[in-house]
Amino acid sequence: IPVDDFDLVIFGATGDLAHRKILPGLFRRFVAGQIPETSRIVGAARTQMDDGQFRDEAAKAICEFAKVKKNDPRLAQFLELLGYTPIDVKGEGGWKELKSRMRDGAVHAFYFSVAPSLFGDIAERLSGHGIADDNSRIVVEKPFGRDLASAKALNATLAQHFHESQIYRIDHYLGKETVQNLMAVRFANVLFEPLWNAQYVDHVQITVAETVGVGGRGSYYDKSGAIRDMVQNHMMQLLCLIAMEPPYHFDPDAVRDEKLKVIRALEPVLPEDIVRGQYQASGDQPGYLEDAENPDSRTESYVAMKVRISNWRWQGTPFYLRTGKKLRARTSEIAITFKEPPHSIFDDTGAPKANELVIRLQPNEGMNLKVMIKEPGPGGMRLVQVPLDMSFADALGAEGSDMPDAYERLIMDVIRGNQTLFMRGDEVEAAWAWTDPIIEAWEDSKRAPEPYDPGSSGPEEALRLMHRDNRRWREIR
Ligand code: NAD
Repeated sequence: IPVDDFDLVIFGATGDLAHRKILPGLFRRFVAGQIPETSRIVGAARTQMDDGQFRDEAAKAICEFAKVKKNDPRLAQFLELLGYTPIDVKGEGGWKELKSRMRDGAVHAFYFSVAPSLFGDIAERLSGHGIADDNSRIVVEKPFGRDLASAKALNATLAQHFHESQIYRIDHYLGKETVQNLMAVRFANVLFEPLWNAQYVDHVQITVAETVGVGGRGSYYDKSGAIRDMVQNHMMQLLCLIAMEPPYHFDPDAVRDEKLKVIRALEPVLPEDIVRGQYQASGDQPGYLEDAENPDSRTESYVAMKVRISNWRWQGTPFYLRTGKKLRARTSEIAITFKEPPHSIFDDTGAPKANELVIRLQPNEGMNLKVMIKEPGPGGMRLVQVPLDMSFADALGAEGSDMPDAYERLIMDVIRGNQTLFMRGDEVEAAWAWTDPIIEAWEDSKRAPEPYDPGSSGPEEALRLMHRDNRRWREIR
């Protein structure tokens, strides 16, 4: 279904994110027939160039990242929608021209694909020059603050010019097909929800593993680390969707209210429940300290932690989170391990294994439910665990590559005015309020991060975090 006619301004249109995600994503939605041909997409950045030069630049990015041929007629059609206005957002030049490009009657959206330090300048000038009004929408990128104080300041700055209902804080994890499917699985079936609590769930593991290091942007990463970069936002959002109570309706504030309650119910993380790591050098591959260009860095490229949710539903069911760079495989998944049956009626067959529901975000989005059955054949009553495997691409007959990327989906939601998959200001602040003491405790401590080998599944200490509780991490593969 096509969205309403819109004018979208991309601040930072010459940057990496615009090239890799925003422009290719918009192109794919255009090809899917979702973008009206009258819509306009206006790039704005400091570089001086005209519409034609911007179209050439956009075409190059789209060919590379949306894997389309230069002479594809749909590309030429899409480029017609594009224009460019040079603006240094810290100055007053260019805003009048930008205003003249905005049409009455179209949805107006402004994507802030620039450093967060510029959000205030853009917000102020958009409203000062009368370009944005009460119906406009703004999209802001991560990182949303680096602690509670800075997130509050950022929220306050935006709130001077926009209502909360106009602000779309992107967390692209929420745009992933599987993440939305998590809500469908939980709330559109009767099978899971009755078991979705501490009585039946032994524990939950959330893993986001990357194979790349921080090389290239090491000195930038060194100021944040895995907790700020992954846990406070992406992993927190996944945890919320698993742990939240059913919202009364699939409505932005109803869903976000429930997520907020989960964040508020998180217990402080004890020092013995968290392990930080840094990848080591290996062969001619530099280690984290060289990549970060900081030989004394204590910033974590890996973190594993045990998180407790202090509410009725989850009392006694820990959530184990881990994320890191230069690990064995690139994989993101949520695994829900159920409790073992209270009593086995089968003799001599080995202990029955616990059911497990694994939700894969990447690669190969899908779900896998492990159940026990009898091993086929005459060998007696022997039990085996088999996966009921559902890859979304297979199940829905869609080629994996035809599944919309998270960014495309989220940008279309902005135009539709649907905030369900965007973080609300109070959610972000609550997440920082939980994260800040974890970071401060580390800064006050004298401990060094645990070293781990590139290509491994993280530091040894992290294994102990699980073994201590008689559990084990799932293999990273
Ligand atoms: P980038 O450095 O590649 O691009 C920055 C853009 O901002 C450029 O177009 C530049 O011209 C423009 N810009 C800088 N100063 C300006 C000014 N004074 N006036 C007007 N334009 C100005 O950065 P990026 O990687 O594209 O990231 C953009 C935002 O998205 C950042 O907030 C970043 O944290 C966030 N983000 C990026 C990625 C990614 O994969 N690149 C992922 C998640 C979030």
